[in-house]
Amino acid sequence: MPIQRLSESVINRIAAGEIIIQPVNALKEMLENSIDAGASSIDIVVKDGGTKLLQIADNGHGIAKEDLPLLCERFATSKLSRFEDLESIQTYGFRGEALASISHIARLSVVTKTATSAVAYKAFYANGKLSGQNFKSSANTEPKPVAGKVGTQITVEDLFYNLPQRLKGLKSKSDEFSRILDVIGRYAIHCKDVGFSCKKHGEPYQILSTRAQLPIKERIRTIFGNSIATDILEVDLDTNIEKEYGTDNSKYGLISVTGAITNSNYNNKKRIPPVFFINNRLVACEPLKRAVSGVYQFFLPKGSYPFIYLSLQIDAQNVDVNIHPTKREVRFLHEEEIIELIVDKVHLILSSVDTSRKFKTQT
Ligand code: ADP
Ligand code: MG
Repeated sequence: MPIQRLSESVINRIAAGEIIIQPVNALKEMLENSIDAGASSIDIVVKDGGTKLLQIADNGHGIAKEDLPLLCERFATSKLSRFEDLESIQTYGFRGEALASISHIARLSVVTKTATSAVAYKAFYANGKLSGQNFKSSANTEPKPVAGKVGTQITVEDLFYNLPQRLKGLKSKSDEFSRILDVIGRYAIHCKDVGFSCKKHGEPYQILSTRAQLPIKERIRTIFGNSIATDILEVDLDTNIEKEYGTDNSKYGLISVTGAITNSNYNNKKRIPPVFFINNRLVACEPLKRAVSGVYQFFLPKGSYPFIYLSLQIDAQNVDVNIHPTKREVRFLHEEEIIELIVDKVHLILSSVDTSRKFKTQT
């Protein structure tokens, strides 16, 4: 076969498949869009592990009617214009790829209203473009005025309808749903200005529900349960206050580390992957995970695991967020030094509690 250009639609479907691997990837993108829009409340409805339905409603700033034609166009974004701005980007999004991708592999519709608009608008999308009512390509694609509150509701139906292998390759519906709950829970721990709720379609009760402005301990209690919350210790390493260790840590670009970790009383047999945020991005960060888990070897019996939530703020100039479309990883300078500082701090916190506890039992 000679070399030929792939058609636009093949390109788009392939690209979408790289970004949206499971329903949870679509959910995370939409969650981040809602947070980027300044929402203080995000309500999620899921059906069949997210394959039949993923619906996210937020009370953010909404989308202007004029912007609707570009909403699902690839590389169209309201968050970035110059490449240099990536260095200081504060929003989760900047690639303008997520909704476009979703619209190529699912049926996407939106109801949205801005504060200055008298009405909300409803629009349907297929393959990156506005589509007619109920996804009929022949119909009028003009967004339709409807009643609604300020904010945005995005509905994604029949995810992977045109990627049958992907659909078959998914884990069970309940596995996919647990992944979705897990990601919502992680954001709910971190985003204290936002209340989250999640339920299954057709069921009346919320499976997860948090309010905005709860203290960290309460957020952890709501999401991960009483036993973790009871044994939680807060972490607060502020490198502006010279100096925890007599040195100026800010030279590594580390601004602060906050979070919460369980003490040595808590020993769960179930492993909960640590909750790490770097500059407010949910990341995996294997080296940090290994290092901090390592500290617990001194405090926990073998085969038991802690709960760890850490939020790192690092000078944005030292962080590269554009590693991968899913943004699951970021790179930052002075990784080793920064991890060492955190390990020292965690060790200090755990051992100071440990001695006070021994004192108590002795007296
Ligand atoms: P990105 O987040 O990288 O800009 P997306 O494809 O996720 O790309 O979203 C495209 C654009 O749609 C965003 O830049 C934003 O302007 C708008 N948008 C998406 N979701 C929302 C939302 N929930 N509230 C307000 N605007 C939104
Ligand atoms: Mg986005």
